[in-house]
Amino acid sequence: MKCQICGGKATIDLNHHNLKICESCFLTFFKKKVEKTIKKLKLFERNEKLLLAVSGGKDSMGLWQILSCLNYNVDGIYIDLGFGDISNKIKEKIEVLAKILNKKLIVIDLKERIGFDLKELSKFTNRVACSLCGLVKRYIMNEIALKENYSAIITGHNLDDETSILLKNVLRWEFAYLGRQSPLLESMDGFVKKVKPYIFCYEKETLLYAIISKIPYIKDTCPYSTKSKNKTLKMAFHILEHSSPGIKLNFMKLFLKKRNFFIPFREREIKELVKKCNYCGYPTDKEICALCTILERSKNENSVGKRQP
Ligand code: AMP
Ligand code: ZN
Repeated sequence: MKCQICGGKATIDLNHHNLKICESCFLTFFKKKVEKTIKKLKLFERNEKLLLAVSGGKDSMGLWQILSCLNYNVDGIYIDLGFGDISNKIKEKIEVLAKILNKKLIVIDLKERIGFDLKELSKFTNRVACSLCGLVKRYIMNEIALKENYSAIITGHNLDDETSILLKNVLRWEFAYLGRQSPLLESMDGFVKKVKPYIFCYEKETLLYAIISKIPYIKDTCPYSTKSKNKTLKMAFHILEHSSPGIKLNFMKLFLKKRNFFIPFREREIKELVKKCNYCGYPTDKEICALCTILERSKNENSVGKRQP
């Protein structure tokens, strides 16, 4: 098998691109693909102050290295959710990469910030950890980005993550969620811009990139991930992709072409976010935002957690 770029020995088969390639050409090809996505979708510019959400996994760690190579001004933020030894190991690896890349890393300890770690929060609220995790991460990242004047929050969501969420939203005909699903959500009052440069990158590619580049990533960053329902949808796509290579990429690209149809449903939702939370000032459609509601209830019921003002 010959590399279709340099003619050397190909060891990687990217059948979704109908491309056989060697390791060295793959690294260049993949970096170019990410840069092309940033430019084509107008995600951000080199003069912007960017904040990358770093989980310690292959996606966000590889992306940090690529954005640094491409000379973007990108700091990292890690939210320590309180998984004990796992969190400590993750933090160490992220600190190693931050040093290699010579980039600033912001570490936020959830328990210090809100008075509870994720497990406690889940127990007090009787809600599954995954839904709370998304809520607190979104809230804290937005809060820090606003405070520290970052123009965008970048996440490492890849094509497999995004197509499984897309399929979930289609199966439930969640029009407002479909209108919100985008690799680029522009900033609006109280919310910083959110971008996903790995939107067209298969998980197989992000994994290969991290391994070949010897990025010091952690394999399992979340003890709850095995219970995730998205895993089933990812497996369904795996079967579809096997019989029709490229189907995932097409599903996403065609959705983005037709996404305008769903935008009015999102705008209706945005119009409702006109209030500011009485406690923290976060945009909300109620008097008190979702996080403050949870924290106040937990505090009253358990009289343990204390919030910073
Ligand atoms: P996940 O939901 O775990 O697949 O993560 C998706 C993306 O969210 C990652 O690629 C990161 O950009 C970001 N992320 C997840 N967990 C954390 C965390 N604890 N701290 C900072 N960013 C995170
Ligand atoms: Zn609030």
